[in-house]
Amino acid sequence: MTVALEVSQLEVHYAGIAAVRGASLALRSGEIFALVGSNGAGKSSLVNAISGVVPSKGRVLFEGREVQAHAAHRRSRMGIIQVPEGRRVIAPLSVLENLELGREALGARARGAADLERVFDLFPILAERRHQASGTLSGGQQQMLAIGRALMGQPRVLLLDEPSLGLAPVVVADVFRALRRLNEEGMTMLLVEQNARLALRSAHRAAVVDHGTLVREGPANELAQDAAIAEHYFGKA
Ligand code: ATP
Repeated sequence: MTVALEVSQLEVHYAGIAAVRGASLALRSGEIFALVGSNGAGKSSLVNAISGVVPSKGRVLFEGREVQAHAAHRRSRMGIIQVPEGRRVIAPLSVLENLELGREALGARARGAADLERVFDLFPILAERRHQASGTLSGGQQQMLAIGRALMGQPRVLLLDEPSLGLAPVVVADVFRALRRLNEEGMTMLLVEQNARLALRSAHRAAVVDHGTLVREGPANELAQDAAIAEHYFGKA
């Protein structure tokens, strides 16, 4: 078993408010690891700290290297790439232009001509709409574009913050089918989801985040069967 990402004693503070308080986790290569928990538990802050978009204390080791001193763009160039909450596609730009922006994460790394084909193969609707302004896409298509844009940067670890947010169930199913396929092809993923039932069905392992720490961790199917977790977190999403 290889550890792709090891986080220890991570702390995130906003103007004195502690959002993450000593969170530790080890993400294994090839797995989907889900972070579930209520609104405001600190899930987004934790992934934002890992990608470097918010400052944090503690250690973040990526493929054995300490990355805490590196800014977000440097981490993404190394292969820690985040699909942000709320998708954040650039509305006036076309699908293709948004995807090309994702290539910037590559920096000096080798450019793969196959990346665009891979995205279009995963999300054929994006190929059909490649010249359309991204702001005119449906929410689900924008989520696919946000994932596609991240893939263009050749992630070695993909961080996903609430990919199901605001999407109709049928669209969520499409997005998660694509995520599972990506994982079957070898992609390592850290998945933040308020929809615990969905997350635990898709992940190999998972943890519950509560008040900025990981309070429960284990195989996703075991957590899914835990009555206390079910009562607390299911049916809310
Ligand atoms: P959500 O599902 O709402 O995103 P979450 O589990 O991802 O919840 P965070 O967004 O990480 O939780 O928030 C953790 C705590 O930090 C919350 O109390 C939140 O209000 C606070 N917080 C988040 N971002 C900021 C910020 N930029 N400034 C101040 N406080 C913040």
